[in-house]
Amino acid sequence: MTERNSTIGKSTIGRIRQDFPILHQKVRGKPLAYLDNAATSQKPKQVIEALSRYYGVENSNIHRGVYYLSEQATAAYEAARVKAQRFLNAGSPSEVIFVRGTTEAINLVASSYGRLLLEPGDEVVISGMEHHSNIVPWQMLCESVGAKLCVAPIDDSGSLIVSEYEKLLGPRTKAVALVHVSNSLGTINDVKYLVGLAKKKSAVVLIDGAQAAPHMPIDVQDIGCDFYTISGHKMYGPTGIGVLYGRLELLEAMPPYQGGGEMIRSVTFEKTIYAPPPAKFEAGTPHIAGAIGMGVAIDYLQQLGWDFVHEREELLLRYALERLETVPGIRIIGSATSRASVVSFTLDGIHAHDIGTIVDQEGVAIRTGHHCTQPVMDFFGVPATARASFAFYNTAEEVDILVNALMEAREVFGR
Ligand code: PMP
Repeated sequence: MTERNSTIGKSTIGRIRQDFPILHQKVRGKPLAYLDNAATSQKPKQVIEALSRYYGVENSNIHRGVYYLSEQATAAYEAARVKAQRFLNAGSPSEVIFVRGTTEAINLVASSYGRLLLEPGDEVVISGMEHHSNIVPWQMLCESVGAKLCVAPIDDSGSLIVSEYEKLLGPRTKAVALVHVSNSLGTINDVKYLVGLAKKKSAVVLIDGAQAAPHMPIDVQDIGCDFYTISGHKMYGPTGIGVLYGRLELLEAMPPYQGGGEMIRSVTFEKTIYAPPPAKFEAGTPHIAGAIGMGVAIDYLQQLGWDFVHEREELLLRYALERLETVPGIRIIGSATSRASVVSFTLDGIHAHDIGTIVDQEGVAIRTGHHCTQPVMDFFGVPATARASFAFYNTAEEVDILVNALMEAREVFGR
């Protein structure tokens, strides 16, 4: 990759990197090359400053106080909800529930809507490339109600076999839960098309958008899904905050997930009347600073623009694939035509954890393991992979450092 191939100059990237303080440090005496963005992305100073400002000048509990600070904090929290609504193109702010992240969002839907919806013998369809967060909650639900979990298979490129998925959709399919972008393979699913197929069978559909939100515009109305989940920390926002989008009609029908303060209209010892959504699903004091920070991360992404993010990440992905393919003994896992900037790989005779440890000596942070997708590892017959995942702020030099470190790993292991 050269910046010559791109309309984006080095100076632009240099300027953007200035927004990310963490990137400008040495680890183990080497400049940090942070290539684990699919696990969590780094935070721009705009987000960090928003968190600090919140705790420094605005901190107070929301929706309760009649005093100035509480009004300020409430307004900032609700403004963040509107930002998330626009980010997802949800129909109304009431369709945006703040949660801890994708995992909590899926658990909320499976345990609340799932229990309302499923009867013994019903079926829930997922795919073979799901993150554990989009497997285990459904498995728990199916076990508790006597429903069946059906898994649509993937092929050797790491793509969903759509004809098999379609075959699984039947009269007993009550819910479908699919990942938008796979965290271990990078595969981008055509969710609009897949949702359309499920809708022909009147199934309720949840899309796990944890890995999509950092990379592409999302329009839940265009996708046609009932639920969509995102995690703030994967899209340059804080940890511990995320959003569950749900169609209002369904949110209104669903029982609450947790009981407590904030989610009620009135309480007596005999009966509680619940608040309407979104409050119905936000029991207790929420992560106010997190929601505000996530709103600032959304602003940041929108200021960069999706064209910029896409061009940059596509260039990094192509360059990384080209360079990694030159490493003897490498096996790249996942080659879907439509993919995000994530590359999983193994090196002949070297365990993924050893790869991770050796490249770490060169300042390179990559993920190693099963990436919470053990069924994907089983499918490809590997215990684990190493995974490099790129954000717009990464550089070609960082890819080169990774490749050189992998060459070193081969030497260390006498390969
Ligand atoms: N789904 C996918 C595809 C993911 O990549 C992740 C995070 N690795 C999750 C779900 C879970 O997200 P969180 O840990 O933010 O709840």
